[in-house]
Amino acid sequence: MYGAPCVEKLSAEQKERVEALRARGRGVCLAVVRVGDDPASEVYVRNKKNACQRLGIESREIHLPGSVSQAEVEECLDKLGADPDVDGILLQLPLPRGLDDKAALTHIPAAKDADGFRSENCGTLICGGEGTLPCTPRGILYMLKHYGVALEGKHAVVIGRSAIVGKPAALMLLGENCTVTVCHSKTADLKEHTRRADILVAAVGKAGFVTGDMVKDGCVIVDVGINRTPEGLRGDVDAVSVGDKAAFITPVPGGVGKLTVAMLMENVIELAERRTGLTEA
Ligand code: NAD
Repeated sequence: MYGAPCVEKLSAEQKERVEALRARGRGVCLAVVRVGDDPASEVYVRNKKNACQRLGIESREIHLPGSVSQAEVEECLDKLGADPDVDGILLQLPLPRGLDDKAALTHIPAAKDADGFRSENCGTLICGGEGTLPCTPRGILYMLKHYGVALEGKHAVVIGRSAIVGKPAALMLLGENCTVTVCHSKTADLKEHTRRADILVAAVGKAGFVTGDMVKDGCVIVDVGINRTPEGLRGDVDAVSVGDKAAFITPVPGGVGKLTVAMLMENVIELAERRTGLTEA
C-alpha cells in the first residue's frame, strides 16, 4: 500500500476546495511554530510547507530559538490564535528540553488545532461530534479504505498506545467495527496477540521490531514506524522476514508518512471551511 496514489487523489480534491474558498475571497493559512534546531523537525516542517505550497495554502513558519521561555512560546501561540487570517496552528514537537509541550498545546484554540492534539478534539474520538482528528491515524484509515481493506468484524491489533498514534488509531478502527486489541511495552506474550491480527498496526519506534514469526498469513500490515538507522529510514516491521505472509503492507519510506502530511492539509482545509461556514461546525 503505497502512499503516493492516496496523496495524488487527495491533492486533486484539496486543490479544488482551496480554490472554492479563494473564490469566496478567502485564503487558507497554516502557521507552524518550530522551536530550536532539531534537524528532524526541520525536515518535517519543510515537508509541510512544500505540501501547503502545492495546494495554494499559505504557510507561515515562526522559528523560535531553543533558549526561548515557556511564556514566550505560549504568547506566540496566543497571538496566532487571535489572528483572524490564521486557520490552523501547529506546534512542531518535540519541544527542546525544559519546555512543557502539553501546557503549550493548550494555547492553541481547539478551532485552530491543525494536529488534533487538543483534548477537546481527542474527545470526539470517544464522544463523537465534529472535531479535528490526529493526522497519522486518520491517514492510516484513509489508506486502508483506499486499498479496499475490509474492516468490519476484523481483528485489528495495534502495537503502541501513544496519544498521537496508537490510542487514536485503535479508537478509529473500533469506529469502523473492528475488534481491537491494543498492545504496549508491558503486554505479556505480544506474539500471542499479533499472530491473531487480521490487521496489524505497528507504532513502536523500533526498527524491524515486527518479524515474520509474529504475523499470520494474509494479514494486512500498517507500518507507522520511522526509525533513522545507519542504513537509512526503516519501519517497525522487518519487511524481509514478513515476506509474502502479508496480503498488504505499507512501505517505509513511501507509506503512512506521506498520508500524515496529506491529512494535515485535510485538517487545515476543514478548519478554514468551518470558519467560513462552508460546513456545519
Ligand atoms: P511513542 O514512543 O510515543 O510510543 C511507542 C509505543 O510503543 C508505546 O506506547 C510503547 O508502549 C510501545 N512499545 C515500546 N516497546 C514495546 C515493546 N517491546 N512491545 C510492545 N510495545 C512496545 O511513539 P509514537 O509517537 O507513537 O511513534 C511510534 C513510531 O511511529 C515512531 O517510529 C515514530 O517515529 C513513528 N511515527 C510515524 C509517523 C508517520 O507519519 N509515519 C507519525 C508519528 C509517529
